[in-house]
Amino acid sequence: MTIQRLDERLARKIAAGEVIERPASVVKELLENALDAGSERIEVELVDGGIRAIVVRDDGVGMTEDDLRLCAERHATSKIAEEADLDTIHTLGFRGEALASIAAVSRLRIVARARGETDGYALRAEAGRIEEPLPAGRAPGTTVEVEDLFFNLPARARFLGSPRTEFTRASRVVQRLALASPAVGWSLRHRERSVFEAPKATDLVDRIAQIYGAEIARAMVPLEGVHRDVCVRGFVSRPDVKRGNRRDQLFCVNGRPIADRALSYVLASATHGILRPGSHPIAVILVELPPERVDVNVHPRKEEVRFRDPRAVRDAVAASLQAALASRYVASGAVSWDRRPSKLGGADRVRETPSSSALPLDLRQTTDVRRAVRDAEKVRVLSDRRVVGQLHHTYLLVEAPDGLEIVDQHIAHERSLFERLKAQLSAGDVARQQFLLPVRIELPLESAAILQSAGDELAGLGVVLDEFGGGTFLLREYPTLLAESQSRLGFQELFEGIVEVLSQGAKLQDLLADRLLSELACRAAIRAGERLSLEEQQHLVEHLMTLDNPYFCPHGRPIVSAIARDDLDRRFKRT
Ligand code: ADP
Ligand code: MG
Repeated sequence: MTIQRLDERLARKIAAGEVIERPASVVKELLENALDAGSERIEVELVDGGIRAIVVRDDGVGMTEDDLRLCAERHATSKIAEEADLDTIHTLGFRGEALASIAAVSRLRIVARARGETDGYALRAEAGRIEEPLPAGRAPGTTVEVEDLFFNLPARARFLGSPRTEFTRASRVVQRLALASPAVGWSLRHRERSVFEAPKATDLVDRIAQIYGAEIARAMVPLEGVHRDVCVRGFVSRPDVKRGNRRDQLFCVNGRPIADRALSYVLASATHGILRPGSHPIAVILVELPPERVDVNVHPRKEEVRFRDPRAVRDAVAASLQAALASRYVASGAVSWDRRPSKLGGADRVRETPSSSALPLDLRQTTDVRRAVRDAEKVRVLSDRRVVGQLHHTYLLVEAPDGLEIVDQHIAHERSLFERLKAQLSAGDVARQQFLLPVRIELPLESAAILQSAGDELAGLGVVLDEFGGGTFLLREYPTLLAESQSRLGFQELFEGIVEVLSQGAKLQDLLADRLLSELACRAAIRAGERLSLEEQQHLVEHLMTLDNPYFCPHGRPIVSAIARDDLDRRFKRT
């Protein structure tokens, strides 16, 4: 690996742009270089959020004196030499611009020693003036120190945030790259304090534990899948662990963290119906595909890529998510990633792509993977689950082919009612039934006004009310599906609950409908503590299992908890 200047023609082919905007962009470029150098451990130190100083130390291949002399020149790179190389980029960097751009706007010092050499050298540059390298001691590897970013461009410096803001941005960059490269050990220090220390991990889930904590790591469900030549690995959080934004969702393509709207959308759709709108899972999704199938030379900061076959990538990610979230083990607290270990190889980021024969079920033939998974699940489920009985009049015990499933009868019934109502609603026809004797509801005047104003929405859901005046309503019609199980005594409370939903002011029409439906379904559902006949139990379980995702209710509460047959065997020492 020797650094050369790119010829002008090739340099022009490179999607260049302003790459250095703030400390976080410096950190990103320096870390990419350290990773490209095959480092096993990378240390980052920031002073004042990186505005005063950024130091990145690595134990990678280092640089010779000649490399060092060139490295901060524009378009000087060891990563590509000719145009054809642009089609098969294996490294994170390839433009030969970062160090030059950093040198132009800071005081830069690089100390490097090439592996196998006895001496190291140091290079200094200030505001773009690069000095001659001088001998300097160092173990093999590279240290880059960037001080006083934008000291020569006060207008740019003014656009920097507070040290705290800049620190947050920079540490997020470290975190994302650390998740993308679990096999590398990382440390981050700010103002001489350790922020995090993440020793080399053998498994992505260990890295997740280092970054997000053990509890979140335990709530992560493994993903795995191969679709044509796209290989997907990673973790997505169980629906009971969620965030209010998408910041903790990471997509990497061949080790490069990227933003991709289509993939974010795939993730959002996979959890749609499992999570409420506004809740987002934590996810780390690593996509590997042959480098010639992805163009990384499309974005100035290399934050986006273009796939030659975006559809294949979307399908691969969708299929692996779908399979993971539909796994019956997802709902059991004891899930486990250790059940399906997702081991990562060494420090090299471009890994072999497994052959498509590893693909489960018949996903290889179908494009509508979601449906395939669902149908497969359905068919299997209906024929092979047997309810053994009721526990404490609250849980149903179900024999499944590979273990015991414990179903919460209330949540299961609630979800089943909810889905059936929702299906009727979207078919535009909620079956309703008239009460012979209307039910009388009394509400405080303020609540009455709220309920009154939602008359049309409620009627659409099959709930028909007449206002009687003075806060009194007469309930005349009610969804047939619910009428039977909703006790007449509970209506008063139900409408109080509905008023509460309405006053929370859900703006989106379908969101409001969803909330009202779940309120209705919840009130009518079989309670915990109710005795059920074996037939009712079996019926409930069978219906539940036909749903898209039988394992979680829309609020993210688990419905099914499973104990694998293997676990039972292990407990009784049968293995
Ligand atoms: P690019 O990464 O696009 O090649 P850079 O300006 O980031 O461009 O770096 C220029 C060159 O300097 C790299 O191609 C690489 O040879 C060398 N280099 C930079 N940082 C390191 C490092 N940490 N270890 C070894 N070599 C490095
Ligand atoms: Mg670089």
